[in-house]
Parts: sequence; structure tokens; C-alpha cells
Amino acid sequence: MNVPLEDNFSDVISKAQRGLEISDSGLAEKARLDASTMRKLRGGHFDELALFRVAPVLGLGARALSDLAQNEYRPAAHEIDGLAMFNTPFHDMRVNAFLVWDPKPRKAIAFDTGADCRPMLDRAAKEKLAVKLILLTHAHTDHIADLGRLKKETGAPVYISERESIPGAEAISEGHEFNVGNLKIKALLTWGHSRGGMTFFVTGLARPIAIVGDSIFAGSMGGGNVSYKDALRNNIGKILTLPDETIICPGHGPMTTVGEEKQHNPFFAGRGVKSLCHSERSGGISCFSDSSRISEIVRDVSTSLDMTE
Ligand SMILES: [Zn+2]
Repeated sequence: MNVPLEDNFSDVISKAQRGLEISDSGLAEKARLDASTMRKLRGGHFDELALFRVAPVLGLGARALSDLAQNEYRPAAHEIDGLAMFNTPFHDMRVNAFLVWDPKPRKAIAFDTGADCRPMLDRAAKEKLAVKLILLTHAHTDHIADLGRLKKETGAPVYISERESIPGAEAISEGHEFNVGNLKIKALLTWGHSRGGMTFFVTGLARPIAIVGDSIFAGSMGGGNVSYKDALRNNIGKILTLPDETIICPGHGPMTTVGEEKQHNPFFAGRGVKSLCHSERSGGISCFSDSSRISEIVRDVSTSLDMTE
């Protein structure tokens, strides 16, 4: 499925500015740029020199930001057997939902509903899958818009974070595990974009999968609406520490991998995350063991954010 990146370089700058509460004029001053250069940059005009000055002020990776601005970042498509993505229109945007299944017993899990769950239901019928679980990454309307129908047609129980409970869904907390066929699903609390944002880490297919909602996008991340600092911390500590080959399934934009985002996502590329945990085919979550390095990077993030406050 050919889905464009959710954010361009200008969106990335805006999200970092909002997260750090830095105005255009404040950014111009800190990056030592004149007002008209800043205006042009904020208007989407590519100026590499200006980008390289702005990036460190915002804690963004300059090279990654510049690649994004020049349309040089395109994560490869990563559908594997047992994973399907559905991209449906919601007002003036598009939103993703996912179906993951164990090919042997043909049991499936629906992740979010998207604006319209019909394509997901059709695919489940075509593949002769029984949907056993509905897991919600967060409660923002676009992601759960068709929950009533999905629930009614599958009869499956619905789960969401206890920090974002909604009627008709059971509440779960971090670390909760589900088993469907031979698949294991572990809930990780990656809040910051929303109060109870969950990432579901799935093992048991050819590659591990992380359904991240709006925590991370290919080349960007959801706005840190609740806490920018915690969104960054959780993304680094809980998503980018998963094995490099983990397929990231975001709520908007194309699929990507942990390895690609460590290298190309401007929010993380400049923070030394590349050194975190290398590719492991175990499919387990042994990468969490590298906790001293993670806390070091997370501490650096916090210090750099505090300095700009
Ligand atoms: Zn959202």
C-alpha cells in the first residue's frame, strides 16, 4: 500500500516548536537567523543552511530533517504474511487500522478501527479469519470511529488503556499480555500524544510488529499534546529499543521499522539512539535489558529539554 509520509519537514519543526514552546521569533533568535529566512523556512521553503541552524535548537537531527525536506526519506513497505494495513479517509485526513493474524489457526486481532472498518472486515472474511480481539491504541475519534460496527460484527472484546477508558471497552495497564493462537501481544504505555497511548508489541510472525498509534510516525511523531517530553522519552525508551527489524505500524502514514526510524526520524536521529540495541532475530524483547544506555539517552533528552525551557 502506497501511503505518503504523514508529516513534511515543516510539520516536524512545528511539532518540536510547540513541544518546546518556542515561537518563530524565539527560534530565529536562538538559531541566529533573520526574520525573513525564518519566514521562508516556516513557509516550507528548503534552505539547508537554515535547517542546520534550526535543528539543534529544537533537538532534531539536522541530516534527517534535511533528507525529509528533500523527499529523500521513503521507508520501504513492510507487509508480511499475517499483517494487513487499512488506510481510510476521515474528514480531510487518512487514518490507519491493522489486522494481525496467526496464519495457522486463522485467529486475528484488530488494532483500531479506522474511519471505516469495512475493508478490514472484508479482508478477514476473505482470509477466513476469526477476529478474537480488538485492541485500541488510543481514544482519539479518528482511530475508533467505527468501533460500534467492528464490535457488533466480530463479537470480539475491546481493550484500551485504563488512562483513556471508553464505554464498551475493558481497561488494561502497561505490561498486560494477550495470546491469540501462537501470537503474543504485550501492551506498552507510550503516552505523551494522548494520556493513555498504547503500543502493542506482537511476536510470533516472521518479524516482530509494533502497533504504535500516533506515538511515532515514519519520519515524525504524533504531536506531544499531553506531554512532549514524555512522548519523546516513551518513544525512545519503549519503541526504539525494540529489535531493529520490528515493523512499526503507525496510526497515520506508511509502515516503517525501528531500524529505519532510529536513522531517519529527525526527532530521534540526533540523539544517539542508533547505539541502542542492534538487530536481534529472537523476536523477544531482550533489547529492554540495555537499560543503562536507555536511561542515559532519556536523561540527555530531559536535560536538553529543560535547558530550552
Ligand atoms: Zn491521536
